[in-house]
Amino acid sequence: MAPQLSHEQLSAIANQFGTPVYVYSADTIAAQYNRLSHAFAKNDVVFFYACKALTNINVLRYVKSIGAGVDCSSINEVKLALHAGFQPVNVLYTSNGIDFSEIEEARNLGVNVNIDSLSNLQKFGEKFGHTYPVSLRLRPNILAGGNLKISTGHDRSKFGIPVEQLSELLSVVALHNIYIRGLHIHTGSEIKDVEVFVKGIEVLFEMIPSFTELEFIDLGGGFKVPYKEGDAETDIDLLAKKVSEAFADHPNPNGKPLQIWFEPGKYLVSSAGYFITRVNVLKHTAATTFASINSGFNHLIRPMFYDSYHRIENISNPSGALQKYSVVGNICETDTFAWDRELNEVREGDYLVFYNAGAYGFEMSSNFNSRFKPPEVLVIKGAPYLIREREDFKDLLRNQVDISAQIID
Ligand SMILES: *Cc1c(COP(=O)(O)O)cnc(C)c1O
Repeated sequence: MAPQLSHEQLSAIANQFGTPVYVYSADTIAAQYNRLSHAFAKNDVVFFYACKALTNINVLRYVKSIGAGVDCSSINEVKLALHAGFQPVNVLYTSNGIDFSEIEEARNLGVNVNIDSLSNLQKFGEKFGHTYPVSLRLRPNILAGGNLKISTGHDRSKFGIPVEQLSELLSVVALHNIYIRGLHIHTGSEIKDVEVFVKGIEVLFEMIPSFTELEFIDLGGGFKVPYKEGDAETDIDLLAKKVSEAFADHPNPNGKPLQIWFEPGKYLVSSAGYFITRVNVLKHTAATTFASINSGFNHLIRPMFYDSYHRIENISNPSGALQKYSVVGNICETDTFAWDRELNEVREGDYLVFYNAGAYGFEMSSNFNSRFKPPEVLVIKGAPYLIREREDFKDLLRNQVDISAQIID
C-alpha cells in the first residue's frame, strides 16, 4: 500500500486552504513510480507519465524529479511539459485526430511524435521524409478496459491505425521512406488483466519485421488501480514477468535491442489525490438521507460520467455511528457521488474526503453553474504547498467580451 495522508493532515489542509480542495501526496506518486520501476528493473523500460490525468506544472516537475518522462495528449500539454523543464527527448506526443499543424509544431519542438492516422502519416512523409523519427499508434482490435468509454483498442475505436491496414501503412512508409522508430498501442484504461497486454504485444510482434528501424515498443498505459477495498488491480510484477518473457522470445530482427515504453497516468497519480469537501445541508427524505456537499460533478465528474466508485470518508467524525447517506453535489442537475453509502455520522459542516481523486479529478473540472474551480495543494515531505489558487469572480469574466453598448434595453 502506498503511503497515505492521515485524517489529521487532511483536516489541517482543509482548515488552512478552505474547501473544496484537491490535495496530492508527492510521496505516493514516488511510491507508485518506484513500484513500476522496480518491477521492470531487469528490462530497458522508460515510463512516460500520461499527464492528461493531472497537469499541474508542479506535479509535472515532481514527476520529472523522480525520473519519468511525460506523455501528452495535446500540443498544449507538450508546451506545459517543456515549460515544466522536461527535455524534448523525454516528452512524447500521442496525438489523435489532430490537425497536421500540431504534429509539425511538435516536430519543431523536438519531442517524440506518435502518429495515429494514415492521413497525418502521409502528410508527415511528404514534408519530412526520413529526416525525423516517428512512432505509429496502432489499433490492435482488442477490447480492454474498465468500460466502453475508456476502451480505446477495439475494432470500433477511433484510436490508432487499424492493424488490418498494414499493407496501406507500409506503402505510405515506403513511398516517403518514413523513419519509423517505434510502434505503440494503448488499449484502454483500468485494464486489470495482464493477458490483454500480452495479446497486444503479440499483435505488435507480428508487425515488427515490417519495420527495419525500430528501437522501441510502446505499450501505453491503463494499469488499473483499486478504488475500493477488495478491488482488483493490475498485477505489475506479473506484467513485468510476462512482458520480459515475450520480449526475450522475440528479438528485434534488426539486431537493436528494443526498448519498452509505458505511459502510466492513473497509476502514478490516482491514489496520490484526495478531494476534500464540506457538508452544506443534510436532508432527510423517505428514500434516503442526502448529504449535500459544497461541490458537484463540476469538480469531480467521474461518478456521473463513468459510474465510477470513489471511497468517501467523514474525517470530521471518524468514530461516529455508521449510517447511510446519499452524497450529492450542489449544482443544478442530478449530481450523485454515492447512493446510500455507509459513513460515520455526518453533521453539517463535516469534511468528507474522496479518495483516488488525483487522476481525472481537477483535470476534468469545469465552471458549470458558474462555480469556481477548486485550488490544488501538493504535500512534499509532510508540508502542504498551494500549487493552484481557488478561482474567483474575475476568472468567470475572463475572456468574456463585453458588448453592452450593442445591447440596449
Ligand atoms: C490516457 C492515456 C494514457 C493513460 O491512461 P491511464 O488509464 O491513466 O493509465 C496512456 N496513453 C495514452 C495514449 C492515453 O491517451
